[in-house]
Amino acid sequence: MRSLVLERQHELSLRDVPQVDREEETLGPRDVRIKLHTVGICGSDVHYYTHGRIGPFVVRDPMILGHEASGTVIETGAEVTRLAVGDRVCMEPGIPDPNSRASRLGLYNVDPAVRFWATPPVHGILRPTCVHPEAFTFKLPDNVSFAEAAMAEPLAVGVHAATKARVKPGDVGVVLGAGPIGLVTALAALAAGCARLYVTDLSDTKLEIAAGLSPAVVPVRAGGGEPAATVLSDTDGWGADVVWEATGSPKAAAGVFEPLAPGGCVTLIGGQSDAIPYDAGAAMVREARVENIFRYAHVFPRCLAMLGSGTIDVRPLITRTYAFEDGVAAFERAAEAPPEEVKMQIELPQ
Ligand SMILES: [Zn+2]
Repeated sequence: MRSLVLERQHELSLRDVPQVDREEETLGPRDVRIKLHTVGICGSDVHYYTHGRIGPFVVRDPMILGHEASGTVIETGAEVTRLAVGDRVCMEPGIPDPNSRASRLGLYNVDPAVRFWATPPVHGILRPTCVHPEAFTFKLPDNVSFAEAAMAEPLAVGVHAATKARVKPGDVGVVLGAGPIGLVTALAALAAGCARLYVTDLSDTKLEIAAGLSPAVVPVRAGGGEPAATVLSDTDGWGADVVWEATGSPKAAAGVFEPLAPGGCVTLIGGQSDAIPYDAGAAMVREARVENIFRYAHVFPRCLAMLGSGTIDVRPLITRTYAFEDGVAAFERAAEAPPEEVKMQIELPQ
């Protein structure tokens, strides 16, 4: 099966990966075989392409990219009960060890043994079919497209971030960064009840997309004391109830407490490869609560329910779709980080 392979840093190809094909032939009793339809390009896929590593995860051998996926069930294992051939589905890309201490505590996303697609040395799913556990495969509502369903994975990060922040109806929120993760966090924060949501970025194009998501969004160009100045002046100097950091920029992270109200919550989402300064004094005088998230746990069904009901619309975030044959070109474009693109997706031949 032709797959989109990261051979090494800066080198991609479309080719067969015989060893993966052999492994994928085995369908366990609780697995389903899925014909892939749409795969989103994630910042992590692009980072492995451009840098060859993310923190401790280093690409040492050729690796198939992709982990944001939807498709159709084409075969079911003997003990599968929830899914049937022909079901349209999306997949949670991380499979934990169900017996690990973290899994038994319900924190399966931080299980050190989790096998996550396209995180070395685990292959991703930019290939025609894959085998996946039924437990991590979710049936789509009829009105959710494959493209929207492939957004369930990044949306899960936003929903987990809104959940950890414990948003209350009527809260004032700030999302630092209007990249894909910042925007799915904005959607989740609005669905969770934020009455007003300041979204910051350096790109005017991204701010326009953010502003288009809801009348409750206030776009703010980052830098020059923003967004703190605007948030504080709009709230009589009190500040925002919740701040989500989704830039991954040490500079933005250093100022996370500035727009925060007393008793508020800062949730750190953006990955930081190096240690960053943390203003403990600014956090202390506000009695700030600080949350960290790593991916998500138990949120895919919620994401699909909200996509199905129209509570959340991810379509404005999908800015470009490529055919699988043009997959390498898609990654070259993504690597240039064009400001007008939010989520680019690749469609596999059906
Ligand atoms: Zn992703």
